Amino acid sequence: MDISCDVAVIGGGFSGASTALLLKRKNPALKILVVEKSAEFDRKVGESTTEVSSCFLTRVLGLSTYLGHCHLAKQGLRMWFADSPEQPFEECVEMGARYNSRLSGFQVDRSLLDAHLLGLAAEAGCEVLRPAKLTGVHLGGAGKNTLEIGGKAVSAKWVIDASGRAAVIARAKNLYRPLTEHPINAIWGRFSGVKDWDGAPLRERFPSYAGACRTSRAWATNHLMGYGWWCWIIPLRGGDYSLGLVYDSRLFTPPRGDSLAGRLQEHFRSHPVGRELLGDARLVGNDVRAYSALPYFSEEIAGDGWGIVGDAAGFLDPLYSPGLDFCAFTARGIQGLVERSLAGEDISAAARIYNERFLFCYHSWFDAIYRDKYYYMGDAELMAAAFLLDVSSYHLGPVRQVFRDPETEFSQFPFQGFPGRIAAVCLRFYNARLSALARRKRAAGCYGDRNANWRLLVGGFAPDVSAVRTFFRGLGRWLRAEIRNLGLSVPAPVRAPEREPAAAS
Ligand SMILES: Cc1cc2nc3c(=O)[nH]c(=O)nc-3n(C[C@H](O)[C@H](O)[C@H](O)COP(=O)(O)OP(=O)(O)OC[C@H]3O[C@@H](n4cnc5c(N)ncnc54)[C@H](O)[C@@H]3O)c2cc1C
Repeated sequence: MDISCDVAVIGGGFSGASTALLLKRKNPALKILVVEKSAEFDRKVGESTTEVSSCFLTRVLGLSTYLGHCHLAKQGLRMWFADSPEQPFEECVEMGARYNSRLSGFQVDRSLLDAHLLGLAAEAGCEVLRPAKLTGVHLGGAGKNTLEIGGKAVSAKWVIDASGRAAVIARAKNLYRPLTEHPINAIWGRFSGVKDWDGAPLRERFPSYAGACRTSRAWATNHLMGYGWWCWIIPLRGGDYSLGLVYDSRLFTPPRGDSLAGRLQEHFRSHPVGRELLGDARLVGNDVRAYSALPYFSEEIAGDGWGIVGDAAGFLDPLYSPGLDFCAFTARGIQGLVERSLAGEDISAAARIYNERFLFCYHSWFDAIYRDKYYYMGDAELMAAAFLLDVSSYHLGPVRQVFRDPETEFSQFPFQGFPGRIAAVCLRFYNARLSALARRKRAAGCYGDRNANWRLLVGGFAPDVSAVRTFFRGLGRWLRAEIRNLGLSVPAPVRAPEREPAAAS
């Protein structure tokens, strides 16, 4: 063998660098090799962090100061609804926080964050091979794995796959499964020339817009919402914005056109908020991409001498930005299994349980939050209920979990245990009801009938009793939507088919 190591990590992005760093900090004697195929990271998606991924970045990795200096402090998430492209800007429905966020969040430039994390792993003593591509892997069990990297043979006691959507282990072991029930796709790019959400021109032209909100809208992740699609508007340090469209191909087709950027811009202009804020936006360089069939998962993410972290383990949906949450949970979970195995413990039973919990969490998260959500995400009445219920459940569940003890709680997946199962059933139920209501509203021609002239501005979200109150507010909105649309569930009276006039004899 040309190189031998205790742990080989394939991919040096967020998940690979974090896992290597965590392992090295706790076990300085381990020989850890990180293999990264790119010479430099480019800007990628995964720019908006949540309370959970921010907890991982600040409390587990200890990056508060770095993030404060080099990225932007995020001010929550905000959604905008319209009932037609011509609707005046100030009549669009707005949902979000009224005040600054209670917990830290960041808008990150991933080309900088990933490079910083990989640099920290190298400083801690990990060996980084870059640019170097994994071209072959033979998983022979703990202590007997061999890899081919840029013509070199590497032996590794453990192999950790952090290769993102390349998902090298899941594909090599035939564990990779697309989530075909959720056919979503994305187009995105980086743009300059986005208007200032908080600047004097907009504030002067739209006084009710200016007066309604006490925090900065510009530092939020703003979402434009529609039937079968949503768009993100994420500010980046220095003035560029990340703009993207995610759509369910059962319900929506983006505008056609020669260039991805042109199609994206045309779509943004079809929403009054997009037209006002992004009307003069210009693509930065050639920084535009598209992915189809976004969600997938690996049937197993841990085995004898191998583990999978981050996007290589699976991906669901970018709405609410849970991508880096999964990266954090899997990085910590696999770290624990590797440490126990290298200490001589037989982890086969633990790996089996870990795989079961991962699959349960992945599918519960899908059913609870995303299944058929694209049917109702353009209807403000229904999304208001979901917004309050989803965000408060998130604070009562995963956010409370990780803040309770960041050091240990990232090794547990959300929805674990009896309370987790009950939560999964409740969330799945209201999500399915809202989706059913949307289909009925659509069939009756009243979809989006409350998409004008109101705002839902919440005091703030925190993992405490205030989230319980917000949850009940969400329940109230859901029940009101059920009652208001009750008439739609009564089948229309069946009218006798009109008879053909009797043929003249
Ligand atoms: C449209 C969209 C929007 C998103 N928005 C958000 C968001 O706002 N917030 C959020 O939290 N998440 C978001 N996500 C998810 C987020 O982007 C991912 O969860 C995150 O980037 C995954 O990081 P990772 O390190 O696992 O994988 P990656 O960042 O993909 O890193 C994988 C690394 O492996 C390297 N690699 C691959 N193959 C090899 C090989 N054979 N040899 C060596 N190296 C290799 C690659 O070069 C790369 O550096 C979004 C995802 C999508 C699709």
